[in-house]
Amino acid sequence: MPASVPPLLGLTKYTRWDQVPDGLHTKTQLAEMDPPLKPGADPVGQVLYHGNSYAPLYELAAAVPKRRATSAQRAALDRARELQYVCRRCGVQGDEPLGKGRWCMRCSCAVMMWEQHAQAQVMARELVADQTAVLLVVDADPEGPPGTQAVAVLQIHDHRVLYTAQAGEHGTPERTAVVDRLDVLLADRRVVRECDHGGLATRIPFTLVSLPREMLPSATIAEHAWMSSEVSSVAGVWVAWYAWTDNPSSTLPAAPGYGKQIAWQRSLDLASDAQSMTALLHRIADGTEPVWEKARWVADGHGVPSPV
Ligand SMILES: [Zn+2]
Repeated sequence: MPASVPPLLGLTKYTRWDQVPDGLHTKTQLAEMDPPLKPGADPVGQVLYHGNSYAPLYELAAAVPKRRATSAQRAALDRARELQYVCRRCGVQGDEPLGKGRWCMRCSCAVMMWEQHAQAQVMARELVADQTAVLLVVDADPEGPPGTQAVAVLQIHDHRVLYTAQAGEHGTPERTAVVDRLDVLLADRRVVRECDHGGLATRIPFTLVSLPREMLPSATIAEHAWMSSEVSSVAGVWVAWYAWTDNPSSTLPAAPGYGKQIAWQRSLDLASDAQSMTALLHRIADGTEPVWEKARWVADGHGVPSPV
């Protein structure tokens, strides 16, 4: 026996069909009329059926025509339903509806890589246009040859060198003076650094105040906003732009052999390194920087995904 449908509160109950006044009909009865109708207002009563369920009753006078789909409309609906299974980028037909975006798995991966690539250009354009944005390049390898630890600050939009200095050794007054100078120079500026956590640790700005493998107290990071891990990195922007991945199912752009194959110069001349990184950001902003020849959306032959 089907589950019972309880009565609606406050509506007159009729326990037999012959009690139902003329002009009141159930939804099913309205739909069976010629032309088919549907309720045009709230129910005004209810009738018992199957001995345990109540069907709402509607006034015929308030009912409105039920629109029937024309055959053209039905064909369009069928077509739309069919299209749910077809990838709109490569045309492959799947076994299940593809959902939002309508991309097959392969294309979804390509699209994800492309979106990160496109986002990298948005970021590069933002940095190039931002008059306050600077590049902070640091080399603070305590095991490097003496006198090689240094910093350089360069303004991104006009490539102007704002500061270069030897950074001395960790814990010396010379190092403290450099950090103090950076605090002043970088206040209220947007700071971009060379690499992030995947890159060379000795070229990450906070190594100016810490030794390798030393945990930095959060109070120290708060004191020098330019050390924050929130800042963008040239490596991060380039890696997303270049779109290399180390395995065919990964959608995470990475650097091909970090340190070996990078798109900028890394030397002992930090100002010149900074120039090469700034030039790279400008090329990404302009769209002239090369992309990996096997970038997903290039290699699969279906081109740049169009927006949803
Ligand atoms: Zn596809």
